[in-house]
Amino acid sequence: MVTTVILGMLCLYLLCFSAMFLLISTRLVDRKMGMDVFALGSLLLGLAYILQLVGGAPGWSVLSVINHSLTLCAPVTYALGAMRFFERPTPVLRPLLVLAATYTGAQALVQFSLGNEARHALLAGACALLFLLMTGAALHGSRTFARDLRVEMRVIAALIAGICVLNAGKFVMIVSGGMAALDMNGGFQKVFYLYMSFLATVLPPCAVWLVLRRLTDELRSLAAHDPLTRLLNRRGLMDALGAHFRSRTAEPGFLLIVDIDHFKRINDTHGHNSGDLVLCRVADALKNTARQGDLICRLGGEEFVVVAFGSDGTGVLQLAERMRAAIENLEAPDATRNQVIRCTATIGLSDSFDNLQAFDESLQQADAALYRGKAAGRNRVEWAPFDPRSWPMLPG
Ligand code: GH3
Ligand code: MG
Ligand code: MG
Repeated sequence: MVTTVILGMLCLYLLCFSAMFLLISTRLVDRKMGMDVFALGSLLLGLAYILQLVGGAPGWSVLSVINHSLTLCAPVTYALGAMRFFERPTPVLRPLLVLAATYTGAQALVQFSLGNEARHALLAGACALLFLLMTGAALHGSRTFARDLRVEMRVIAALIAGICVLNAGKFVMIVSGGMAALDMNGGFQKVFYLYMSFLATVLPPCAVWLVLRRLTDELRSLAAHDPLTRLLNRRGLMDALGAHFRSRTAEPGFLLIVDIDHFKRINDTHGHNSGDLVLCRVADALKNTARQGDLICRLGGEEFVVVAFGSDGTGVLQLAERMRAAIENLEAPDATRNQVIRCTATIGLSDSFDNLQAFDESLQQADAALYRGKAAGRNRVEWAPFDPRSWPMLPG
């Protein structure tokens, strides 16, 4: 009786969570993050347990065969949903139909060759194996493709490992003690369905949490980056600088403003789209030239800011010169005119600064240097007027 009540509650949970996943997936219009597949998985498992409730004794019957096939297909559906969540496009319906048909055939084969006990043992054994694979995949993911969700993946792996152990136990009990293991009033079934109810209560909020984390991380990243070049925007730069200077071992930085020369002409001659392409190429050139740990930002329009750390005046001048040369050497195609677009940039350098409050002053210094560079003919590096003893002589 107790087990039947637990099973009834479990059906209710699963159907409610199926509806919840479906609602979430309709909100995630273009990218459903596997939520529609999770809805299907919960529906299949809910239906399997309803069949178990109404099907009565675990003997050979159409309901029991469908129940077993659904019970195996449901976790596979969750696994396919998880693959979609981790952006591995995968078909769902066809593999599930093939699995259901194959497993139904396997059930008939086992039933008529080895008997009803063997058919139940087959389900418990197959589920144990499947959950073992899922536990392994979740642990593997926590170290590789889902490193950003390491803790969550380990918790999920532990939860799935629990159901794996229970299915392995059920398999052993059926093989050694027969159908008594499936007695709904027996202790084992009570523990089994209690754990399933626990999983059905905990796993769906876990899945929703994963979606929420992904979405909020993406929103934060969108708010911090320029959509055209994928470089940091001003807000992202300020956040990254704040994080850098909060560290006790923070090194001072030098600020470089990189401004493309006569960019308006490029737009006017080759069109706005080609101008955008040039901006992307310049962004790539800056990324490829900067050192690891340097911050690169598109401040707006055709102006970029680089903050270089762990360097002295000589090193930063060399870096700025490398950036200038990289931009001078880049080529962007103008597809409509069958031409190559070239550009140059002028770079203004600030004195070093070691706190966030000094950022605006450094920006003004670099801007003033940039202005001088523009006035002096463009395509050059200029540095802010400060203690010249700390700076090397530029060639030429
Ligand atoms: P200078 O050498 O003095 O820097 O001249 P400039 O033409 O580069 O500078 P100016 O400030 O006169 O023009 C900047 C141009 O950049 C004007 C604007 O239309 C263009 N621009 C700003 N944002 C974008 C963008 O996102 N895409 C494209 N294609 N053009 C942009
Ligand atoms: Mg310009
Ligand atoms: Mg400008």
